[in-house]
Amino acid sequence: MTAGSIPESVLPAILPPLALSFDLDDTLWPIWPTIERAERLLHGWLQTHAPATAARFDAAGLRLLRNDIARRFPEWGHDLSRMRRESLREGLTIAGDDPALAEPAFDVFFDARQQVELYADARDGLERLARRFPLVAVTNGNSDLARVGLDGLFRHSVSASKFGIGKPDARIFHAACRHLDLRPHEVLHIGDDLALDVAGALDAGLEAVWMRRHEGAGDEVAPVLSRPYHTVANLTELADALGC
Ligand SMILES: [Mg+2]
Repeated sequence: MTAGSIPESVLPAILPPLALSFDLDDTLWPIWPTIERAERLLHGWLQTHAPATAARFDAAGLRLLRNDIARRFPEWGHDLSRMRRESLREGLTIAGDDPALAEPAFDVFFDARQQVELYADARDGLERLARRFPLVAVTNGNSDLARVGLDGLFRHSVSASKFGIGKPDARIFHAACRHLDLRPHEVLHIGDDLALDVAGALDAGLEAVWMRRHEGAGDEVAPVLSRPYHTVANLTELADALGC
């Protein structure tokens, strides 16, 4: 484990924590290949059930619709499912199809969105870590750990869509700590996003590890961080560093 932003020699001892909190998307699996596949399957479903909508919006067009909803309704930013569902309702309406088809269309997208391909180190790393630490998930996304097949390894999952507030807000990190019956400084959060995960967790009083899977990942984002953090490239490295 290497130190981020502050030389290792001045890092306080942050280990061992009493529990681990995990981001999901891009920490345990790459999210964009999954979303792109889900959008292709969604478009295929629309070709059969709402052909006018499928003709008007290709898979990339469906993404633009969803992004437009996100821009116009920032208050839904914590609820990706709602934004996707509303974008489908709008697309169906614009094309003259039945807007009620937004529900079954969303189900097709949502099913496909759960079919993630874990990073090669993820399952083994989580199993090693879960033998020693309670694990909790803290996600701004809408993945379902049971459908991903990881629910047996996690004690709890806190999602922005259900909780109503997303990272980097301290309240979602504190909700995860309450589930664990621990204080923030006793929990170590691991995530790929420097602003949402690392800065968010540190500001909420947790310790933090930046999951930097790719050289250059996150280099463009340099939030001001209140305290030092560590960096790992994968879950094997994290499990080794924590002595699991
Ligand atoms: Mg992430």
